[in-house]
Amino acid sequence: MLKNKIIKTNLVFYFFIVFIFTFTQFSLPSHAAELSDPIILGQHYDIFRDPSKKIKIEDLLSGTYDNSFVDSKENYLFFWHTQDTIWLRLDAEKILKDKQESYWLEVTDKLDSIEMYLVKKDGSYSVQHRGISNIDDQNIHYRSNLFDIQDPSVQEIYIKLDGELPLNLISYLFTTDSFINKIIDYKYLTGIFYGFLTALLIYNLFLFFSLKDKAYFYYVLYMFSFILYQASLNSLDIELVGQLLPKWYFIKSSAISGNILLLFMILFCKEFLELKKYVPRFHNFGKLLLWITILSLIASFIVPNVMITNNFTIIFAVVVFIFLWISGIVVLLKGQKMARFYMVGWTVLLGSIIIQALAFLSLIPFHPVIFEEVPAIAAIFESIFLSLALGDKINIIKKEHQEMQQMLNETLEHKVKERTQELERAKIKLEKLANTDRLTQIPNRVRLDDVLEEAFEHAQHHKAPFSIILLDIDYFKEVNDKFGHQVGDLVLMNVAEILQNTIREQDTVGRWGGEEFLVICPQTTLDDAVRLAEELRQQLENHPFPVVQHKTSSFGVTNYVDGDTRNTLLSRCDKALYQAKERGRNCVECFDATVITRL
Ligand code: GH3
Ligand code: MG
Ligand code: MG
Repeated sequence: MLKNKIIKTNLVFYFFIVFIFTFTQFSLPSHAAELSDPIILGQHYDIFRDPSKKIKIEDLLSGTYDNSFVDSKENYLFFWHTQDTIWLRLDAEKILKDKQESYWLEVTDKLDSIEMYLVKKDGSYSVQHRGISNIDDQNIHYRSNLFDIQDPSVQEIYIKLDGELPLNLISYLFTTDSFINKIIDYKYLTGIFYGFLTALLIYNLFLFFSLKDKAYFYYVLYMFSFILYQASLNSLDIELVGQLLPKWYFIKSSAISGNILLLFMILFCKEFLELKKYVPRFHNFGKLLLWITILSLIASFIVPNVMITNNFTIIFAVVVFIFLWISGIVVLLKGQKMARFYMVGWTVLLGSIIIQALAFLSLIPFHPVIFEEVPAIAAIFESIFLSLALGDKINIIKKEHQEMQQMLNETLEHKVKERTQELERAKIKLEKLANTDRLTQIPNRVRLDDVLEEAFEHAQHHKAPFSIILLDIDYFKEVNDKFGHQVGDLVLMNVAEILQNTIREQDTVGRWGGEEFLVICPQTTLDDAVRLAEELRQQLENHPFPVVQHKTSSFGVTNYVDGDTRNTLLSRCDKALYQAKERGRNCVECFDATVITRL
């Protein structure tokens, strides 16, 4: 439920944004084209490289180097990092056609120093300084370098480029009208792009606050650093804070923001893919990459040569991207379902990086779209899929939680069952202990009382007969006296065993007290009980007892009769036993209750 809700909200949100983005991409340029198109200046330039960096405008105007200028073949010039001073020459007469118009010449991207010389027919010239070294010279706060050409009667324009930054030169010539349109377009698209990224950032920040999951926090940092990086790549930082930050920052900003981006990217991916859990070896490698990123970040601040840090960051970024992409695949194969959306997003981003790399290697022609639109659109798609992945995570975690809860319940149930069985066993053991005579291990008087009660109930309900036998070992005191208490105990144990083995299944024998035993015989007539008593007597008489050898016992037998109580029954039996003792012991005497009542 939660997953579906989040994914649905995400999808609606993203498609809405992507729709606006795509729509404006197609509609606005055509609207601007109706007025007047800017001229792409790339092919109009003549280029001259000066490795000595010493040649001045006067030297060029003197004509000495006229033959050293080469015709440009490209619309977008690309020099990467170069130590040379680069001179560009433009035939102003051909290009500035409307002599009543004022023009704007734009040179995009961060460059250390640009000078533009507007040379008149008579050889006199005026100069404008732009670039990071001259940020304060540009009145309009705009991301690229703007030169204004108020006097279109100039004959030639020279542009001098200097510095450490990579030179990917995109240059346009605008009339004032077309420039205003360009600015409107630019502000509109920039607003949508950064607005989308910021919305995504805030959305995930709220998710982090409500879910308290570190992955969302790293994602917010990642989005933040992505915005920072993109702003630096598009020179938006110059436009917004050009006057506030020190100039060296803008020279180093692409390496700095690139490394910050890599840092949070690794942190996020490590956390999101749960590398520590799924592939510890990759986790360790990720850690190593993190440390390298931190060092590279420090280096991008302190190493004076921007080319070194820029080149290192680019190569290192490729390693990081490939690592994170492979990590996604491995983790996905290991069963981490969350990696699905991650892989789609990451593949899109990696695709755009590969296109950029091909352009850097000049395998495909350089075009501003490759450095602006392609990464921006890829980043938007990557953000969408990463966000979907995070939404997916909520659901997967919820499912795991439920499964765990169920497992816990089952274990708990199992434990309770086990404990109950244990208690049951303990209870049975205790009951047995409470009902058993310690010495002879046969039922004790407590148990005999219970059995007697059951026999009474059964007899009363079913009008069935039942009888009891009470027996007492003859002259037992002598055993103790002659041989000691321990031998007496042995005899008692022997007697108990014999009795237990001789009685029938339905009978119960127990120790009534001292050397007296009681046998309860349910559904047994007096005659049958007497027979059983006789058998018991013989068994005992014939048993070779340890030490004492011979020992006899006397038996009293009686039967249950209507109206009997426990006491009347037992006292009758006691009397019968007494009679047996009187008769000389080692014999069975009975008391027939029916006869007495009849009498
Ligand atoms: P009678 O034939 O009249 O029954 O003679 P008797 O000696 O058996 O009778 P009496 O009641 O005088 O003696 C019973 C003796 O049984 C007394 C007591 O020391 C002994 N006795 C009772 N319980 C135990 C027991 O658990 N172990 C042992 N060793 N002796 C016991
Ligand atoms: Mg006795
Ligand atoms: Mg006795």
